[in-house]
Amino acid sequence: MTTSEVEAPVSPMDAAVRQDDIAFRVIDFLFDHQLSTTPVHYAVAHAYFDGKHAEIAAAIDSQLAAAKPLDAFFVAELYEEHLAAEAIRRYRGVGSDVERLLDGLLDNLRAADEGSAEFHEALQENIGNIDAASDAVHLKQVAQRLLESALKASEANAALKQNLEAADQEARQLRNELEKHRRETMTDPLTGLLNRRGMEVEMARALTEDPEGESAMLVLDIDHFKRINDTYGHAVGDVVIRKVAQTVKKLIPGEAVPVRYGGEEFAVLLPHCSTERATGIAESIRQTIEKLRLVRRTDKMAISQFTISIGVARRDRCDDVDSLFQRADKALYDAKTGGRNRVMLAA
Ligand code: GH3
Ligand code: MG
Ligand code: MG
Repeated sequence: MTTSEVEAPVSPMDAAVRQDDIAFRVIDFLFDHQLSTTPVHYAVAHAYFDGKHAEIAAAIDSQLAAAKPLDAFFVAELYEEHLAAEAIRRYRGVGSDVERLLDGLLDNLRAADEGSAEFHEALQENIGNIDAASDAVHLKQVAQRLLESALKASEANAALKQNLEAADQEARQLRNELEKHRRETMTDPLTGLLNRRGMEVEMARALTEDPEGESAMLVLDIDHFKRINDTYGHAVGDVVIRKVAQTVKKLIPGEAVPVRYGGEEFAVLLPHCSTERATGIAESIRQTIEKLRLVRRTDKMAISQFTISIGVARRDRCDDVDSLFQRADKALYDAKTGGRNRVMLAA
């Protein structure tokens, strides 16, 4: 073995120092790129520095080399593509927890089953003894033994009940954790709307639940959003995105499925909705956004008004989420080329 092949063992102290070092670099990095310190941003930035995620490092380096912004959306995409699977694998650990829980329960049930078989045998044997018991002393002994067996069985049952209750609580907690994780992986942290993954799942579910129903899709895009970022900075850009999301949420029916599928791009599936009503909803969103007046909190500076364009498509029988989206997106494109700040209905 040559000396270069010898790897110095990393002491726990060295490892801790290295972790601290990465943590400082991560914070600087988030600060430099005006990224908030959310767990997703932190995870991606950490992966950038930890030397174990070559694909993430390459994607970030090439984004920086192309002088493109490292915005929240880009970072969220990296997380989805490279780290979400890792998180899910970690949650598979939850799966083995469930297995362990079930194994424990089965052991308990087996023990209880054996316990009650013993009790049954004891009953039979002692009831047999009652016949043979000729005097009161003997009868008292039989009764004593029966009482002992009954007590033992009742103790075993109490222990089983306690274990079952604990297991039930643990199972409930695991289910909640899984549900919370499922929701997190489908939610866009900036707006609280569904993300692209949520869009696939929830829109497909809404369409399958009502295969024949009349429904429509809106695809929205903020007009000249780049200018907002360039003029007021990304933080204000984020506020604008959030404001648009809130407005959309306020103006759509409860059963609608709103999604942020891109940086400043949204889609809404409107189940049980005629094309006329969908166009009306789109128009009211457009008008409300047009009238918004936002003021930057730090210096009370008025942010210039902004507009959105919307494409509307009516669902055809053969449509899946993708084909419906494509038509609404094409209508959005027509709205953009037609001058923006308008609603266009797909042909
Ligand atoms: P158009 O009217 O044609 O839609 O023009 P646009 O400027 O809105 O569209 P373009 O696609 O050129 O620019 C979108 C910008 O959105 C570019 C990107 O930096 C920015 N962006 C993407 N995600 C985020 C985000 O999460 N936050 C902020 N602040 N900006 C984002
Ligand atoms: Mg866009
Ligand atoms: Mg835009």
